[in-house]
Amino acid sequence: MSHEKIASPVNTKNFIDNQLVESNTDLWIDLHDPATNNLVTRVPQSTDAELKAAVDSAAKAWPAWKAASLLTRQQIMFRLVGLIRQHWDRLAASITLEQGKTFSDAKGDVLRGLQVAETACGITTQLTGEVLEVAKDMETRSYREPLGVVAAICPFNFPAMIPLWCLPLATVTGNCLIMKPSERDPGAAMIIAELAKEAGLPDGVLNIVHGAAKTVDFIIDEPRIKAISFVGSDKAGKYIYARGSEKGKRVQANLGAKNHACVMPDANKNATLNAIVGAAFGAAGQRCMALSTLVLVGETRNWLPEIVERAKLLKVNGGFEEGADLGPVISPQSKVRIEGLIQSGVDDGATLLLDGRGYKPPKYPNGNFVGPTILSNVKPSMRCYKEEIFGPVLVCLEVETLDEAINLINANEYGNGVAIFTNSGAVAGKFQRDIEAGQVGINVPIPVPLPMFSFTGNKNSIAGNGGNYFYGKAGLNFYTQLKTVTALWRSEDAVNTKATVHMPT
Ligand code: NAD
Repeated sequence: MSHEKIASPVNTKNFIDNQLVESNTDLWIDLHDPATNNLVTRVPQSTDAELKAAVDSAAKAWPAWKAASLLTRQQIMFRLVGLIRQHWDRLAASITLEQGKTFSDAKGDVLRGLQVAETACGITTQLTGEVLEVAKDMETRSYREPLGVVAAICPFNFPAMIPLWCLPLATVTGNCLIMKPSERDPGAAMIIAELAKEAGLPDGVLNIVHGAAKTVDFIIDEPRIKAISFVGSDKAGKYIYARGSEKGKRVQANLGAKNHACVMPDANKNATLNAIVGAAFGAAGQRCMALSTLVLVGETRNWLPEIVERAKLLKVNGGFEEGADLGPVISPQSKVRIEGLIQSGVDDGATLLLDGRGYKPPKYPNGNFVGPTILSNVKPSMRCYKEEIFGPVLVCLEVETLDEAINLINANEYGNGVAIFTNSGAVAGKFQRDIEAGQVGINVPIPVPLPMFSFTGNKNSIAGNGGNYFYGKAGLNFYTQLKTVTALWRSEDAVNTKATVHMPT
C-alpha cells in the first residue's frame, strides 16, 4: 500500500443483507487521502429507501438471531477474531490511506477493537443472570435479553476501534446492528463487514449505511431502532443524545476531551518526557485520549526545553513511510482550524516554543500536515486551553503545588482522561482520590482501560452524566435489558378457598 494516486477510485457501497449495494443517490461525499488530497473513494449520502432497506433487513433478521444459541453467536465471534487477525495489515492500510495515521499506529487502532471482540468471546460466562429463592417454593430469575435493532454512529479518528467497540457486543448479545461509519473513513468498517459475513454472521445482523447528518437523523427518527451508540464531537453527540432520548431510545454518547498530564518533580524524568511527547503527538493528536495539556508542578517547568527537543525528533510524514511518527490531520479544514487555535494562543499571550505550522514533508506538499507544536505560559482563560484542539499541539501550564494542579484540572469542563507522573504512592493516592476525570493514569499517559473494564470518561466528555459506558460490564448492560421471572411451584395445595387481595405482608 502507498499514497499513490488511485487511477479509477471506486465508490464505497452500502452493506445491506450481507451484500454490497451500490447507492442510487445523487449526493456523494468525496474522500481524500489526507497525505496527498488525492481522491480515494466517493461515499454515498444513502437515500431514504436504502436506509429503510437496512432497517428492514435488521428487523427481519432479529427473531432468528435472538433465538440463535449463545454458543452459535460465540463461535461466529471466535471466527471473526481469527479473520481480523488474518486481515490486520489490510485493515491498517485502509486506515492509513483514508484517515492518515501511521501504519504502525493504525495496527494499534485495529488491535484495540480486536480486543473487544476477543473479550466478547467470553459471552457464555458474562451473560449469566441471577437466581434467588425469594420465599417458600418461590424463586426469581433474571435474564439479559437483547434490545432488537440498535445503531452505531462512529467518528473519523478510530475507523476500526470504534466500530469494534460496538459490533461484537451488540451482536453477540443478540441484537442486529445498523452501523454508520464516519463518512470520512468508512473503509475499515467495510472490511470488518466482509469479515463478519465470512465468519458466519447471518444476513441482516450487521448492516452498514453511509452518509452524514441526514443518515444520523434517519437513525434517530426510525422507531424500530431501540438504542444508539455514538462517539464523536460535542456538537453532534449532545444533539443525538437529546433527540434520541426524546424519541425514547437508549443512547450512549462519548464526546470531546481535554486530557491533562500532571508532572511532579519526583517523577522519572526520562520516562515521563517520552510518555508525554508520545501521548501528545501520536496520531497527530487526533485521539480523544491524547495528552494535550501539560500541568508542570514546581521545578518541572525547567523540563520544557527537553520536551521541545524530543518533540523535534518526531518525523512528520505520509503514514506509509518508514519511520513516520505522525501523519497528516484529517482534512484541510481541520488543519486551518488547528493552526487558527495555535495563533489564538500566541495572540492571547502564550509562548510558542515549537511551531509546526506550515510544515510540508518533501514527498507530500499537498497533505494536511501540522508538525508538533508546543505553547507554554498558557492560562485557563485562553481559547487554546478551553477548546479541544484535536491536533499535534501541546499546551503547557505552570503551577506551584499538587493542590493547585488538581484544582486547575477539576475546573476543566471535560473529564475523559488524566495522568500523573510521580514516584510517590502518597501523591498518586491523593491525586487518584481528588481528581474528577473518569480515567486516571499513574505514570500511564493514555489510561484507556482494556475491554474487561469499560471506557469511563465523565463530566462533559460523556452525554447525560455518564452511566451508559462503552464495552465491559457496562457495555453488556447497554446492549441488553433485564427480564425477571418469578415462579411459584407449590409443594402443597392451598387450604383456603377464598382469594386474598391485599399485598402479602
Ligand atoms: P463528529 O461529531 O464530527 O462525527 C462523528 C459522527 O457524527 C460521524 O459519523 C458524523 O457523520 C456524525 N455527525 C457529525 N456532525 C453531525 C451533525 N451535526 N448531526 C448529526 N450527525 C453528525 O466527530 P469526529 O470529528 O468524527 O470525531 C472527533 C471527535 O470525536 C473529537 O471531539 C473526539 O474527542 C471525539 N472522540 C471521543 C471519543 C470518546 O470516547 N470520548 C473517542 C473518539 C473520538
